Amino acid sequence: MSFRNFPMVSRVIFGRGSFNQLGDIISPKRLNTKAPFIFFVDDVFKGDPWLTSRIPLSYEDKLVYVSAAEEPKTDQIDQLVEEIILNFKELPSGIIGIGGGSVLDVAKAVSIMLTNDGEAKDYQGWDLVKNPAIYHVGVPTISGTGAEVSRTTILTGPERKLGINSDYTPFDQVVLDPELAKDVPKEQWFYTGMDCYIHCIESLNGTYLNAFSKSYGEKAFELCKDIFIGNGLSNEEAQDKLMMASWHGGMSIAYSQVGVAHALSYGLGYLLGIKHGIGNCIVFDHLEAYYPEGVRLFKEMKAKHDIQLPLGICADLSDKEFDTMIDVALSLEPLWENAIGKNWKKTITREALRELYEKM
Ligand code: NAD
Ligand code: ZN
Repeated sequence: MSFRNFPMVSRVIFGRGSFNQLGDIISPKRLNTKAPFIFFVDDVFKGDPWLTSRIPLSYEDKLVYVSAAEEPKTDQIDQLVEEIILNFKELPSGIIGIGGGSVLDVAKAVSIMLTNDGEAKDYQGWDLVKNPAIYHVGVPTISGTGAEVSRTTILTGPERKLGINSDYTPFDQVVLDPELAKDVPKEQWFYTGMDCYIHCIESLNGTYLNAFSKSYGEKAFELCKDIFIGNGLSNEEAQDKLMMASWHGGMSIAYSQVGVAHALSYGLGYLLGIKHGIGNCIVFDHLEAYYPEGVRLFKEMKAKHDIQLPLGICADLSDKEFDTMIDVALSLEPLWENAIGKNWKKTITREALRELYEKM
């Protein structure tokens, strides 16, 4: 047996208002005045001086707004990289992503592709990246995905939706300022928060579970229960706790794996463009057979926060479309192996997946 030796975020700062220290944190990393910092910022913050006026731009630094309406695509990454190469004489000093999982993934992927030849799609998979990435910093503005700690950046490519999983993917620096999440709309708060909750359930109920994953997973699970079905937390406390839940949930799956909900959600994402958080919720609502207790609690949280999930999203799909989703889901073998065990192919048949998708 060989144990994975995986990298972690090397530096992290936590606290309400810690975003104000970003300038001090990155300035020693500036290579020279011609090597800019590129800030990828979620375009939800366009025209919001509360955040944008605190972005520490100097010399030739550049702020690029990125839409999170759709999940990042490999050709979007290639284009962003090309623009940087065409517009600057030198490679950037650093890439800073400020936003949700989508923008964090853009920042990670661009920092990798600036130092690796070819196209982003060539690196979708495990350990295909050859050269270290440019210094990259993640500043989450919504909590749940764990993208701030993970060693992957999830991209939709021409052939698959799959991460660039590598030792060079994790951020060199993360700024955890829970105040940045203060204006997240309730539905989005729930969907992205449930991504964390589902990470815990899939990790804690998986066959890959070990004491490392369990310790982080249990902590994140406890925090999620406190936030989503507990009473009496102030908004500030809830924001602080969800930011830490996301971190711990991400750490938990780092040394285990996600499971059934994620595998099926990737299928929805690939075919229908349904985003990760809401997709996981749509799927998880139908997974009583796999995660009975987790789904029961999920339904309780959904009711408490009065969340209406979309219905009938697969109602008009053709056989071919179902097959595409099933192919995507089945291709994620480690997720199934974690969820069901080595013999997962005996129970996870195309028919079983079709039946689940038809309920959604
Ligand atoms: P997101 O980045 O897609 O953003 C969701 C919405 O919230 C967007 O409309 C965005 O503009 C808005 N938003 C973000 N911060 C806000 C704020 N402070 N105030 C108001 N609105 C705000 O959301 P997400 O759920 O964090 O990320 C999903 C993405 O993360 C997907 O692309 C998924 O593939 C990826 N993901 C990555 C990993 C990883 O390990 N790399 C893990 C899970 C998910
Ligand atoms: Zn997830």
